[in-house]
Amino acid sequence: MINHLITQKNWQTQLSEAITSVDELLSILQLESLRADVYVPKHFELRVPRAFVAKMRAGDRNDPLLKQVLPDQRELTKVTGYVADPLSENSQNPVKGMLHKYQSRVLLTITGACAIHCRYCFRQHFDYSANMPTANVKAQIVDYITAHPEINEVILSGGDPLNVTNRRLFAWLDTLEAIPQLTTIRLHTRLPLVIPTRLDEALLDRLSQSRCQIVMVIHCNHANEIDAFTSAQLQRAQASGITLLNQAVLLAGINDSVEVQAQLSQRLFASGVLPYYLHVLDKVAGAAHFDSDERLSVALYWSMLAALPGYLVPKLVREVPNRPFKVPVNIYNDDENRHYGRLKN
Ligand code: SF4
Repeated sequence: MINHLITQKNWQTQLSEAITSVDELLSILQLESLRADVYVPKHFELRVPRAFVAKMRAGDRNDPLLKQVLPDQRELTKVTGYVADPLSENSQNPVKGMLHKYQSRVLLTITGACAIHCRYCFRQHFDYSANMPTANVKAQIVDYITAHPEINEVILSGGDPLNVTNRRLFAWLDTLEAIPQLTTIRLHTRLPLVIPTRLDEALLDRLSQSRCQIVMVIHCNHANEIDAFTSAQLQRAQASGITLLNQAVLLAGINDSVEVQAQLSQRLFASGVLPYYLHVLDKVAGAAHFDSDERLSVALYWSMLAALPGYLVPKLVREVPNRPFKVPVNIYNDDENRHYGRLKN
């Protein structure tokens, strides 16, 4: 019922009414006893939309959705190897607001804002203020793409690209669709899970009319993120011709069991979404407690292969700075670097 009332509001109202107070969140969930464990860093404060909170279980301190958003003291722990910019993205900006990491596609950070703050986010220390494309930078981005004919796909990212108004988003689509070499526009977004109302009619209409193929990669880590309304919204998006894929992050204590992963894949598929990637955690400072042991991750993956049909098993990958692709985690006891060396020769 509460969720029903929330989803009646338009997405921008929901965005502005997101919970930013730890006390309010814990009070709604009847978990005031957790207050002493909470630590909120200045650079990345609590933010969670009410539609997402409505999918959490009151009174459950181990709720898998709550654990993704509630900041705690462990973020203060300094762990060797966990750094502010784990993917060295700050060195891959040929134009402000654009990352060119992979041969055939570029990524645009069209906003630094997200509807939700995920505690494990690898971009939580990213300097968005220095990387937002302004109007004149837009022309430079177009020039850069045109000068690189190997680029055929643009990824709209952020932050969350669906955090911007339809007007701004459509202006980006207009600009990109006018570049003849582009065949595909991809949106990386968590908004369909955290404010499902964001998939509004105007957005779906515009995306369905694009001359480019539209791929929407959502970011869902647990089946509980997909309730009946969210599932219906995703199915509407699929029915309007959008290819829907999911990328999840493997998170210790949240989705690192075969039961949880199988349930996630099945619920995604029932909602018109195919599992795409399961990312090993990027080693970002403050998030070491979410990381899972590599051997256990590989064992989990073998169990997923046994439990699910192949089309519901996402690729287990990690990002390695300066590699021109996401690196498949080696599930055979072989030397991954030797494989990479072979590929280069
Ligand atoms: S929505 Fe994505 S970019 Fe935003 S905080 Fe979460 S993981 Fe990071």
